[in-house]
Amino acid sequence: MTTEDWGQIPIGAPDDLHQLYKIEQPFIDLYKRIADCPACELARFRSKTVPGSGSKTSKLMLIGEGPGQKEDELGLPFVGRSGQFLEKMLLSIGLSRQDVYITNVVKCRPPDNRDPHSQEINACDNFLQEQIAIVNPTMIATLGRISMSIWFPNEKISQIHGEVKRIDGRLIMPMYHPAAALRNGSLRKTVQEDFLKIEKILMETK
Ligand code: SF4
Repeated sequence: MTTEDWGQIPIGAPDDLHQLYKIEQPFIDLYKRIADCPACELARFRSKTVPGSGSKTSKLMLIGEGPGQKEDELGLPFVGRSGQFLEKMLLSIGLSRQDVYITNVVKCRPPDNRDPHSQEINACDNFLQEQIAIVNPTMIATLGRISMSIWFPNEKISQIHGEVKRIDGRLIMPMYHPAAALRNGSLRKTVQEDFLKIEKILMETK
């Protein structure tokens, strides 16, 4: 996606997709800079950049790893099967995806859905930090071990998922990636339980 075509809604897109493309300042400037970013190798592989979507005033921010094929096609995060599962989990605690802010550690799709490399994560980190500063969420849920490693580099997700730590004034909760729950049915209940913890924490911090 380039600055010129950034923000275009695919022809024939359903209404809910139009909702997801709705963006406000200051995200507009940021998303344009991401669309033009050549800072790491992933720029060569993308169809569209996938900056993020959702509310700029949400108390909850969800951070995944990187865009997949569907996300790369549409320029939106979590719109494939993982996204459907994520929406279901959000709905179970009374939230829609427009109520939260969703992004990934890297904004361009790694080829063959490989894990992003550390230099790619580092190159993209300024964008992520800018998003966190704009949204200023009370709570961040990391989805998967890649985003978890930003705050918990030496931990195992199996040991600390669902635990909340206060870091730099925010509550950070590591969670399994929705794709892991889709691959491994036994993790679905775990993810559901962790979402219930999010609901409880958000109620307590109202
Ligand atoms: S992944 Fe991030 S740093 Fe790399 S090209 Fe895309 S926007 Fe730039």
